[in-house]
Amino acid sequence: MKYDLHSHSDASDGALSPESLIRRAVERGVDVLALTDHDSTEGIASARQAAAAQGIRFVAGVEISVTWSKRTIHILGLGVDSDNGALQTGLQGLRKFRTWRAGEIGRRLAKAGIADALQGASRYASGSVISRTHFARFLVDGGYAKDVREVFKHYLVNNKPGYVPGNWADLESAVGWIREAGGQAVIAHPARYKLSATKMRCLLAEFCEVGGEGLEVVSSSHSANDSRNMAQLANQFGLLASCGSDFHSPEQHWAELGRIPPLPPQCTPLWDQWTQSRKTDLLS
Ligand code: AMP
Ligand code: MN
Ligand code: MN
Ligand code: MN
Repeated sequence: MKYDLHSHSDASDGALSPESLIRRAVERGVDVLALTDHDSTEGIASARQAAAAQGIRFVAGVEISVTWSKRTIHILGLGVDSDNGALQTGLQGLRKFRTWRAGEIGRRLAKAGIADALQGASRYASGSVISRTHFARFLVDGGYAKDVREVFKHYLVNNKPGYVPGNWADLESAVGWIREAGGQAVIAHPARYKLSATKMRCLLAEFCEVGGEGLEVVSSSHSANDSRNMAQLANQFGLLASCGSDFHSPEQHWAELGRIPPLPPQCTPLWDQWTQSRKTDLLS
């Protein structure tokens, strides 16, 4: 069985509609796909419907933005009930911050000589959750940089003109919303945060204490060595292992749906206890 438990649609900063995302997952041989848009569950209903029609197993998910120790980290909620009130209220608060931040990014870019970036980014977001990725696409098309990665590097990260510090959910709240919604909380792409070994242990200890269950051991942004390290940490902390491509767009060939290495053999997969549960919409 091929699991891909981290992907994005155009309900956040992905390029494909939920329906097209499901079609692509089927084409890539994915057996179980989780849709995990940033701070939104808007795409879940259409994705679930498309998945049922196309015979692929679907996991309702979300990727929650968290501020922990002055850094932004991402927590996946997998197998969530998207109708849950606590989860939706929490996500609404994050989207409110996103809207304010988008205005602020626009104002800062204007000061740096780039006019109308908010309007531009909003066109790319077309009513969905607005993200730095939408600013990046606008800036690429405006000729400010050659690709999205370059835009981030020169405009949208710390110490660059369009950077606005995050003021996201705290770790305990994010994990709490996920649990209230019946889901499992998983730390997304842990090696990307570039934490020292001590800081990483500190994060994992706190995450376990507030009810976190999993670590994304395998991710497109991890090297083989990252995955080995994370597998070891998952075992030390009694966390289950997850894996996901973090697919956003067909153009980002380094993060293709379903194209991720298998979990290291010593891991306990997150989905080991899934059968018979309501966490996946299983089509037997
Ligand atoms: P936001 O949540 O709006 O701050 O945007 C974060 C998103 O931007 C991430 O989920 C990635 O999709 C994207 N992103 C972050 N850093 C980079 C980067 N260096 N290059 C390309 N995309 C990035
Ligand atoms: Mn993203
Ligand atoms: Mn992420
Ligand atoms: Mn993601």
